[in-house]
Amino acid sequence: MIEVNKNLCIYCGACVGVCPVLANRLRETWIEHDPQKCIDCASCVKACPMAAITLHKGKKSL
Ligand code: SF4
Ligand code: SF4
Repeated sequence: MIEVNKNLCIYCGACVGVCPVLANRLRETWIEHDPQKCIDCASCVKACPMAAITLHKGKKSL
């Protein structure tokens, strides 16, 4: 699963487009992330222009 730093995120949507399992959705003022879908591929972490995403390995660690 990922964690998005809301102080850094500019809601560009890059993390939504690169996700192979559609685990991220762009909302008006936040990124909705589904940890059950996330496969920890880190594509969104690399794609984020603001380095706002932190990857926490493990789907159900919340
Ligand atoms: S790629 Fe980064 S800056 Fe863009 S919407 Fe996702 S978390 Fe926010
Ligand atoms: S780590 Fe991979 S699977 Fe998880 S949200 Fe980011 S792009 Fe999607």
